[in-house]
Amino acid sequence: MKTTTTLLHSIPADPLTGAISVPIYQTSTFVQEAPGVNQGFDYARSNNPTRKVLEDLVAVLEDGSNAYAFASGLAAIDAVVKVLEAGDEILAVDDIYGGAFRQFTHIFQKFGIKVTYADTTKVENVVDAITPKTRLIWLESPTNPTLKISDIREIAKIAEANNCLLCVDNTFASPVGQNPINLGADLVVHSATKYLGGHSDLIAGIVVTKTPELGEKIKFIQNACGTILSPFDSWLTIRGIETLPLRFERHSKSAQQIAAFLTNCELIRNVYYPGLIDHGNYEIAVKQQRLFGGVIAFDLKVDSAELATEIVCSTKLFKLAESLGGAKSLLCHPATMTHKSIPREKRYNTGVTDSLIRLSVGLEDAEDLIEDLKTVFKTVGEKTKKLTQTSTQN
Ligand SMILES: *Cc1c(COP(=O)(O)O)cnc(C)c1O
Repeated sequence: MKTTTTLLHSIPADPLTGAISVPIYQTSTFVQEAPGVNQGFDYARSNNPTRKVLEDLVAVLEDGSNAYAFASGLAAIDAVVKVLEAGDEILAVDDIYGGAFRQFTHIFQKFGIKVTYADTTKVENVVDAITPKTRLIWLESPTNPTLKISDIREIAKIAEANNCLLCVDNTFASPVGQNPINLGADLVVHSATKYLGGHSDLIAGIVVTKTPELGEKIKFIQNACGTILSPFDSWLTIRGIETLPLRFERHSKSAQQIAAFLTNCELIRNVYYPGLIDHGNYEIAVKQQRLFGGVIAFDLKVDSAELATEIVCSTKLFKLAESLGGAKSLLCHPATMTHKSIPREKRYNTGVTDSLIRLSVGLEDAEDLIEDLKTVFKTVGEKTKKLTQTSTQN
């Protein structure tokens, strides 16, 4: 069967009533026949039928043995790190999501888990940075916001040879674009807030495991720490996932068109999109991804935060907001928004210049989105021309 058919038919009709939409089991507890005799559910932190449908569905999508749903992407990341012990080390991609960096640095280092960072786009950097204490390799591919790609298959081999777990944050590729477990990863996390939910209307996270043994560990942590996803948000996420393949194909198709348009804009210096042949990691991207998603980043020839700010404040269809993966297009200015707390020099090392702008291409018609950008570039372009003319006159 094809993916979308498998996906839709992995969502069961309600066995009690036949309801085609999964019921929202808004309950804290379940009546037992005798102590310990129940229908597989006893307390809703430990297990909830609505959440279970979502968890089983994402396990199927990612080709994992088990999946667990959490209150946010960061809660999912937190659960993975808790598999480790004090004294263990994490080797993470240097271009990591800011919230994961904050959690690793300000929460887990306090409990004796050390984190080191490397540019994982080069496999030899992973080999160099690994130590006998490294127990977890943490990748994001593509990364945020400059869409760097790491070779998951090769790094999985290194992880295995060093008795390490490999976890991939697959938020940007979604299960439709890439399946890290099939490339050798042990764990996958998602911020389901983004493509899985897909409508900018919830916060949620998922952990998927390759094996039932790892699944048991994550399940224990989910129950022991209690950072579960609510029944209603589980239902919303299931509903979002029903259209994920359709949405992700459209996001990717439009983004490819917009990236091509941006490449030919006079104002722009670099365009970052893994589907462009001149993207630095294009060859690996094509090897491990089926689709490249809806996130594009670009910066300006005149590297000015003011100009970038003017652009992000002037578009009509692209709304200025953090987050990505929703039906409506968004854009943001990482230097003053998502990456504000990162020192300028460190920011520049990963390509996050003052003029970098990130787009999350939504489901609108690509022609309209291009028109929106064109209009703004025209106004801003005229202003820049005037600016450079006055400065040469002076
Ligand atoms: C948004 C995001 C997260 C965090 O997810 P939340 O649902 O906001 O907690 C983690 N990783 C990546 C790549 C993200 O984009």
